[in-house]
Amino acid sequence: MSRKPFVAGNWKMNKTVEEARQLVAEMMPELTEISTVERVLCPPFTSILAISAMVTGTEIGLGAQNMHWEEKGAFTGEVAPNMVREFCNYVILGHSERRLYFGETDESVAKKLAAAFKVGLVPIVCVGETLEENEAGRTEEVVTRQLREGLSLVPKEEADKLVIAYEPVWAIGTGRAANVEDASRVIGGVIRPVLADMFGAATEESIRVLYGGSVKGSNAAEYFREPAIDGGLIGGASLKKDDFLAIVRAAAETA
Ligand code: PEP
Repeated sequence: MSRKPFVAGNWKMNKTVEEARQLVAEMMPELTEISTVERVLCPPFTSILAISAMVTGTEIGLGAQNMHWEEKGAFTGEVAPNMVREFCNYVILGHSERRLYFGETDESVAKKLAAAFKVGLVPIVCVGETLEENEAGRTEEVVTRQLREGLSLVPKEEADKLVIAYEPVWAIGTGRAANVEDASRVIGGVIRPVLADMFGAATEESIRVLYGGSVKGSNAAEYFREPAIDGGLIGGASLKKDDFLAIVRAAAETA
């Protein structure tokens, strides 16, 4: 079974609308060409409208970095699933920065995932262990729990649309990328078997599992060559035109 390679850029809290427009304008000519890779840009909410206008009519996808699970109401500062769906087809959920700084839990991830499927958003779900958990040999236990609890409300018949990103917390934004063999072992040896157990082998085979954590243009190909790794969730390097395009090109080589 061959899965289409997937590369998403998580811009985090970076770029004004004008800066966002400029970066996308610079990347567009080449980014639109590499159609063998599913390409997704996840700017901050404030730039989503502007970038939506630029990518509409292309195959480049647009994603939000978070959302609330409720449909509407008194939730100051939050954005509802159908509001995200007006402009986006993807949403990143359970990113470690949301878990660390904003109290995101497996339970809230589960509710957000159910809400995302309800409005037709493709969720990019982040899982991964902290350095402390890694050093204590708890990677398998932590990632398994995040998957079993976080994905507990996913409709089984739609689970094939899921995108999972394995992002060891200690590798995010640190320049200390996980060793390729370790990332491949966690994805192939822990994440895929849990997905198969939860949703069945045929569905698991359709689910893209990405690696994320200090991926750059210079190291992306090493990860993407691994059969278990279907692409990357890219933070810092997605803010740099040359780096991001090199990463998408590396993914295209595996298509
Ligand atoms: C991320 O934010 O999901 C990420 C992987 O960040 P970075 O590429 O900067 O490590």
